[in-house]
Amino acid sequence: MPSIELINPADETVLQTILHTTIVEVDAAVADAVTAQRGWAALPPAERASALRRFAAVVDAATEELAWLEVANSGHPIGQARWEAGHVRDVLTYYSAVPERLLGKQIPVAGGIDITFLEPIGVVGIIVPWNFPMTIAAWGFAPALAAGNAVLVKPAEWTPLTALRLEQLALDAGLPEGLFRVLPGRGPVVGERFVTHPQVRKVVFTGSTATGKKVMAGCADQVKAVTLELGGKSANIVFADADLELAASTAPYAVFDNAGQDCCALSRILVQSSVYDRFLELLEPAVKAVKVGLPGDEATEMGPLVSRAHFDKVSSYVPNDAQVAFRGSAPMGPGFWFPPTVLIPSSRTDRVVTEEIFGPVVSVLPFEDEADAIALANATEYGLAGSLWTRDIGRALRVSRGVDSGNLSVNSNSAVRYSTPFGGFKQSGLGRELGPDAALSFTETKNVFISTD
Ligand code: NAD
Repeated sequence: MPSIELINPADETVLQTILHTTIVEVDAAVADAVTAQRGWAALPPAERASALRRFAAVVDAATEELAWLEVANSGHPIGQARWEAGHVRDVLTYYSAVPERLLGKQIPVAGGIDITFLEPIGVVGIIVPWNFPMTIAAWGFAPALAAGNAVLVKPAEWTPLTALRLEQLALDAGLPEGLFRVLPGRGPVVGERFVTHPQVRKVVFTGSTATGKKVMAGCADQVKAVTLELGGKSANIVFADADLELAASTAPYAVFDNAGQDCCALSRILVQSSVYDRFLELLEPAVKAVKVGLPGDEATEMGPLVSRAHFDKVSSYVPNDAQVAFRGSAPMGPGFWFPPTVLIPSSRTDRVVTEEIFGPVVSVLPFEDEADAIALANATEYGLAGSLWTRDIGRALRVSRGVDSGNLSVNSNSAVRYSTPFGGFKQSGLGRELGPDAALSFTETKNVFISTD
């Protein structure tokens, strides 16, 4: 039986060994999910709503336990991990309103009545990356369950523990057996089986753009619905008229949170050339003040990278001759520690400027004017997030409309709220999660005409 040994990223101790799900077991889980989904969809909407509220309540009671699991498995700072567990509860609560509000339409037609039904798709497979194991799973499973579907989740190989606990909590809350399963295992085995199994009718994939393309191509074979949340190389654009102190003091957290392992990391800071030097002067103490330390310490703001393999990948972007402007600190000794690092690349086409590093490394680049800022922000195959700082409201709107990204903030760095839509332009993805409409993407519209003649 294949398995994986989980390693605590902060000290490299072995946590536990997790058995991997085989293809035969995935197929059995799909068969159970098909049956469970029929019963779930047949329940009165108010009962499905109350089951999801119970699930949220059970998660709420387990917030502390889930948070400490994420500290151990993923190296997330405890304050952040508590927020993540609370976010799962909030996403469940938000979508518990859906079953009783999944409204079809009545469309005026000649000779009868025309109505639409929003039918569940059936069984949905959700493939999750390792950077935010429980929150990203919840963005898929909460609206999918709310719309009447069964859900199978495949957590990332390195970080399955919180998702596995959520499966148990769903049963504790009284969700039917087989409706919500978590199947740890390898991407090319369990994830790929979601893609090829004919009774999994939708795949939600969050992860790298390279794997997302494979998933999309595989889904095409069965004309299977797919949502993709992929990589990013987002820009934090600072104009000369901005509150420079605020932009500089918040910029480190917009890229170094979760040790930069965030698809929304603002990993390119673009600064108007007239204030470029001043901005760097303000940025340096802010970067050095980021508290990097043991994830279990309440004061820690940034923990280690998730694994040795990922540490090696991030390190390859900062060779000995890298153009480092300044760095923060990181603990010595065991653990995958990488200090916050600020680079001044010599060219706009350097690989540190164009490739997603997915670690605590940021590039600072100058721009001349508004048109140049938009062009530079858009000079990437990605289009996920972005921030812009200016006191000119007209410019804020023009630049927001000009940057090809799904999630922008003006004079703040906050891309994600469960009540607003989230997703990417270009190679950052396809479709939207979260917000008022997310459950619709887990339904099929059925049109029924009833003759009155
Ligand atoms: P990854 O693509 O390596 O893996 C993601 C998931 O896909 C894992 O569960 C993996 O096991 C599975 N997988 C791997 N091969 C597969 C295959 N052939 N078929 C089906 N599933 C397969 O990505 P990762 O390294 O875990 O995550 C980091 C990436 O995720 C980054 O690029 C990051 O930007 C992206 N990400 C995007 C968002 C977003 O919302 N846009 C959020 C978080 C992370």
